[in-house]
Amino acid sequence: MDERRTAAMRVLEALEQAGYEAYLVGGCVRDFVMQRIPQDYDVATSARPEEIQTVFSHTIPTGIQHGTVTVLIRQIPIEVTTFRVESGYEDHRRPSVVHFVSSLKQDLARRDFTMNAMAQDLHGRMYDYFSGMEDIRAKKIRTVGNPAERFAEDPLRMVRAARFAAQFNFTLEEQTAQAMRECREECVHLSVERVAAELEKTWMSDRPSLGINIMFSSGLMEMLPPFRFWGISSAMEPGKFLPFDEVEDRIVRWAYLLAVCGTTVETVQRRVKDLRLSNADGTAIATCFRLGTEWKPLTEREGKELLLKEGLSAVIQASHLAKLLGKASLQEQFTAWWAEMPVKHVKELAVNGRELIEHCKRPPGPWVRDTLWDLLKQTALKQIPNQKEVLLKEGCRLGKLDS
Ligand code: ATP
Ligand code: MG
Repeated sequence: MDERRTAAMRVLEALEQAGYEAYLVGGCVRDFVMQRIPQDYDVATSARPEEIQTVFSHTIPTGIQHGTVTVLIRQIPIEVTTFRVESGYEDHRRPSVVHFVSSLKQDLARRDFTMNAMAQDLHGRMYDYFSGMEDIRAKKIRTVGNPAERFAEDPLRMVRAARFAAQFNFTLEEQTAQAMRECREECVHLSVERVAAELEKTWMSDRPSLGINIMFSSGLMEMLPPFRFWGISSAMEPGKFLPFDEVEDRIVRWAYLLAVCGTTVETVQRRVKDLRLSNADGTAIATCFRLGTEWKPLTEREGKELLLKEGLSAVIQASHLAKLLGKASLQEQFTAWWAEMPVKHVKELAVNGRELIEHCKRPPGPWVRDTLWDLLKQTALKQIPNQKEVLLKEGCRLGKLDS
């Protein structure tokens, strides 16, 4: 048993011994049934937050107003939440009122899908009031209760449904799928961050195409921020999404999504910003997109120069994207070329800028950077050796040509 599960069981045991009801709930029960390793363990209990805090010595009041206390069992965090129901989703995000309730069944009823609405107790007994097991067996995603109502309460559930389809290779139950088409406009209220987090989870799956296909074919995608501001079209043949599954790299998957959405080299920077990802991710995605969409066959010399300029991983990502876009690519070559080059960065040259300035007796200026770059290319292509005297001599010659 993995140690997080052992920790979660400890929590159930301690709560039961203190006279409360306690169950594993949500994703960890679903993953247990599907024999997958859960992301995190959640516990639901009849104990109130103050009571949870008295049962355990190490707790963090993560979300007391929502009834959530994080319990630490040998540094392992377990989220423990008092049975609750929610109502009045006025801002389409967070329920405006949280009521604590006395029964497990009521707590499970507020959960999104039947597969996520099961519980398991300390003794391994399953509590499955909404036929989650049956839906898992049939590989169906079905909302708990009326799908249109549940989607209107929290439109993120529609995006989660698509994400789960990708993660588990499940399909949407017919009424759930129908409600998604009807309720898709509710998604305009979602935040970009929540949408991007679900896409990120989709990229972590084996079959992102299944989720992306659902998002486009249901008309969800054109409603989601930020995509809705890009004027994308849902009319897309499903085959277009298969390339998402071919390359596991999340940067390439983001870049391919941009391509599918009709992004151009002119609009890519703006759109990457719209997605509110980290700066590092944004730069990597934009570079991959730019190089991949403008890909053309390269000679060894051009390939090596591209590698020196962009680095191996950016070039490999771009070559993957080029391949997904139906352009020939040479990715095996790049790894070999990269390995062949004795120096890969200006820092590795046997001279630095200061030495060049002194030796050539010229004032500092842009010529130094340009000369170092030329020297890097020549040494990397093995036209000259990486030796100080040779580089200084060649550097001064180049510097003179430059002026
Ligand atoms: P993951 O494997 O990504 O952790 P998960 O199903 O565990 O998937 P969490 O976000 O960890 O998702 O949420 C835990 C549980 O809380 C879910 O299984 C579900 O029961 C409930 N839940 C989460 N988000 C929602 C939502 N938007 N609406 C209703 N219930 C939700
Ligand atoms: Mg989870």
